[in-house]
Order: sequence, then structure tokens, then C-alpha cells
Amino acid sequence: MSIPFNKPYLSGDEFNFIRDAIESGQISGNGKYTKLCQNFFNEQYGFKHSLLTTSCTDALEMSAILLNIQAGDEVIMPAYTFVSTANAFALRGAKLVFADSSALHPNLDVHSIEPLINERTKAIVPVHYAGTSVDMKGLMALANTYNLSIIEDAAQAIDNYNDQFEERKALGSFGSLAAFSFHETKNIISGEGGLLAINDNNLKSRAEIIWEKGTNRSAFFRGEINKYGWVDLGSSFLPSEIISAFLYAQLNQIKKIQEKRQAIWSLYDTLLRPELEQFGIQLPYIPGYSGNNAHIYYLLCKNLAQRELIIQALKDKGIHAVFHYQSLHRSPYFKNKHDGRTLTNSDRFSDTLLRLPLYYELESHQIIRICHIIIKTLHGKS
Ligand SMILES: *Cc1c(COP(=O)(O)O)cnc(C)c1O
Repeated sequence: MSIPFNKPYLSGDEFNFIRDAIESGQISGNGKYTKLCQNFFNEQYGFKHSLLTTSCTDALEMSAILLNIQAGDEVIMPAYTFVSTANAFALRGAKLVFADSSALHPNLDVHSIEPLINERTKAIVPVHYAGTSVDMKGLMALANTYNLSIIEDAAQAIDNYNDQFEERKALGSFGSLAAFSFHETKNIISGEGGLLAINDNNLKSRAEIIWEKGTNRSAFFRGEINKYGWVDLGSSFLPSEIISAFLYAQLNQIKKIQEKRQAIWSLYDTLLRPELEQFGIQLPYIPGYSGNNAHIYYLLCKNLAQRELIIQALKDKGIHAVFHYQSLHRSPYFKNKHDGRTLTNSDRFSDTLLRLPLYYELESHQIIRICHIIIKTLHGKS
């Protein structure tokens, strides 16, 4: 029996809520389900404001517009990330400055950032890889010292927290802006979908305008003004009520989804950690200050060849395990634009990180089987 890498979770209420949205007569955006979702995020995670978007990519693009990022500005981000982290700022003409990951974990090595800051630096975009928190204490201190904006790429970080400050805070509540994804590969999904969390009150009204094609339509619908028009730059970033209704069905089950994913993650960890370290494989590192939202279970193989060996052994048994990002500073689009610094850890993760299947319906016996195949393969038996 084959095991896919991912399988979208369905709560069972998606059709009911979509039907309700359709029957209510409003299926364009910013209706009942959009507001229900946005309120959920604000209440649950302490975001000051939330705007649903059609993707995390869109939320990142909105951030770049909202912070007036323009040609000549520099933006620092990890090289080990998804293209959308970079594209959003490249589209505004910004110069991308890629930083290395920590040796322990794909997240930004905060100590490597300070030498990259200069008078043109405007923002830092930390990515909470696998949902694990970046060192936000170190990063917020840098941002304060140099007066930089922080935009969290929290695409993978829904329902996770950081404990480095007096009170435990949700990821996505630190940056002036944070972007989440509800793509079907993430923990909470709507097919395509995203969220912009706005934690700086000064950015709220302009965020709404950019979201609604550069118009003050949202204020008009609240009755705050008596006609609406074109007041700023903008685009169409809001999802339809059909998407929001789907998302709301997922949010109603978030506790159940997260608990199941955590159980799967823990079973992998219990079975693999004592067995794989002898083969030079590094298992996921979660700093004490971060919670675990069980977005990804990954292995850091000893080298590329070992990763290929494991992928192939699993594939032979119908199990789909996948590697992740190729460092952006070495991508076909960017390699000639990069300043030449070597980013050792980032490159190492490109060559060695392997993600194992992780989805709600994955059963214990399947996890045991996957682990068994990996361990046997490393022992040279098949
Ligand atoms: C998934 C992901 C994105 C993109 O999300 P979309 O909703 O597909 O646009 C961006 N950044 C990271 C780190 C991601 O994992």
C-alpha cells in the first residue's frame, strides 16, 4: 500500500459552510466567514488585526507594498526558504540580502545578520521553518537597535508559540506584519489561502485599502464614509467567501488537527532518534523557547548520497518522502545577483534535509513501517 507525502485533511463541515455561504447570497470576499476567521485569529493568537488573503505569497506582497519597500532598499532573509519570501520584495525592486541558517536548524542564524545591516536595510524577514520559532529575542533586539521592520514568514507556523519573553506569545504576533499560508500542504488549509496579521496599529487602515484594490471600500461598508474611491495603490488580495467558509471549517477543528499531528511527529521521533544518530543523521532540533506545531518531521542526512539512498528505498516501497528548498542564492534566477558570500548551512540543508510523510490520516502502523524501512536501509539490508 502506497503512502503519499501529504493528504489534505477534511473536517467534514467544509461543504456545509460553503453551502451556507452560497445560500446567504454573498460569495465575494469580506463577508461573514472572512470575518469569523479573522476574529478567530485575533482572539486565539493575539494579532491586532487580521486580513485573509488568497495566499501567503499575497500576504508577503501586501507587506512589501505596505512598508513602502522600493528600489535601493535592502531586505534580509534566509536563503533557505520558499521563493515567495524573496519574490514579494524583489517585485518592489528591493535588493535581497540572503543570510545563512543556524548550524542546528534551518532558521536564520541571528548572529550572522548584524554584519549584513547597513543604512539601506529596511526589513528582516525571518522564516519559522517547520513551524519552529526563530530566535525572536535576538531578532527583535536587532530590529530595535537599527530601526528595522520585521515581517514574519509564518507560512508554516500556525498555532505555535515562543517563550523568550515574559509572556508566551504566538508566532506571527512579533513582527509588525506576519504572513501565514493555508495551502493544502500546511497544517490548516483552504486549498490556496493565506493571512496577513497586522500587529502595528499604524498599518491597519492602509492594509485594508491595499487589500481592496487601493480603495477605501472597507471603511465605506462600515458606514465610516459615504462614498468610496481610489485612494492608494492596491490589488485584489481578498479571498472569496467560499474559500473562507472552507477555512472556517478547518479552524473549528484546529485543536484536534494539531494534537493528531503532534502524536505523529512524536512517534517518528521516538522511533528514529535513538536509531539514526549513529549513522550521522541529525534529527529535528527545537530550541527550548519554541513550541512544536508538528508541521514537518525531517531528517538531516549525513550527505546527499545518504538522502538519495533513503528516498529510493522508501520509493521502492511506494512511500513518498521529499527534500525541500534549494538555496535561493544559488537559484537560476538569483545566482548572478548574489554577492558571492558562501552560506554553508543553507547549502547543507539543501543537500541533506529529507521530509517524511505527515498528515492527519497517517496511521501508527504506517509510521512504524516507514521508520523500519529507513533503519533497515541504513543497516545495509533491504
Ligand atoms: C508555503 C510557504 C509559502 C507560500 O505559501 P502560499 O500560501 O502557497 O503562497 C511561503 N513561505 C513559506 C516558508 C512557505 O512554507
